[in-house]
Amino acid sequence: MQHLILPVLLASLWTLCTGSADWCYQSQFTCDHECNTPDKWNHANSDCSGKQQSPINVVTRKTLPDERLTPFKFNNYDHIFRGTIKNNGHSVQVNVPHLATISGGGLPDTYKAVQFHLHWGTDGGPGSEHTIDGEQYPMELHIVHMRQEFSDLTTALSDAEGVAVLGFFYEKSKSANRKYDSMISALKSITAADANTSLSSISLAQLIPPEHNMTSFYRYKGSLTTPGCTESVIWTLFEKPIPLSHDQLKTFSDLKFKDGKRMVSTFRPVQPLNGRQVYRSGGAVILASSALLVAAITMAMGLSQPN
Ligand SMILES: [Zn+2]
Repeated sequence: MQHLILPVLLASLWTLCTGSADWCYQSQFTCDHECNTPDKWNHANSDCSGKQQSPINVVTRKTLPDERLTPFKFNNYDHIFRGTIKNNGHSVQVNVPHLATISGGGLPDTYKAVQFHLHWGTDGGPGSEHTIDGEQYPMELHIVHMRQEFSDLTTALSDAEGVAVLGFFYEKSKSANRKYDSMISALKSITAADANTSLSSISLAQLIPPEHNMTSFYRYKGSLTTPGCTESVIWTLFEKPIPLSHDQLKTFSDLKFKDGKRMVSTFRPVQPLNGRQVYRSGGAVILASSALLVAAITMAMGLSQPN
């Protein structure tokens, strides 16, 4: 009989604690609003306690240079489109026409852009999801792509390499970044959860650094950073941050969650690496410099040869 009671008791306790509560960030949890905070996301989806979860802290001295991590080829990234920016209750998201693609960069295929969204802190404080040597940046942009053969993200997530996310960090700058004006002024109209408004003209290229500043990046295999936490993501984290002024960064904290509370600290804490290797681009540069070194030594030896 006891064998039966314990599991029943545990099951009912589990229901009590988790119920059918929605997932949330730590900043949303209060006694009168109990929700599944990141440490309980595995209650929403067991994948969230997998062994290849994101985000992670990148320890740069443990990264391995990889010569296959060549520069990306961005296609139609400068395509100007009319988009809808939405407060989806967890973030701000813009769905993009599936015209912009990326290839190269060590990716196994061409991937097309699907949507982008952001993760931020409180009033411009630390808020990125990934950290570099323990440093948390004020905000992080995720441009989500799927393998070109797929037409929706759900199907792409069933392929172990179906999704490629480009992650960009932000840094505080003295002057405002005018390329972000239209997006940031749109935030005023979508402070309520589920609100949306249109962006008259926007391109992916205007949001990210110029191409020549995107050759240094980190690469690892991970997951979505929100439930279902599916482990189908090839992650790229660019070293060069995007500048935004303190006021621009702060504007994101004016958004509201579904319960009307300020949408702040919308990041998942870093997850264990579990033996995963993080690679970095620039292997070819090192190879080139060692080739130069060999050439120099050969020349020096040649010069020292008696005639
Ligand atoms: Zn994200």
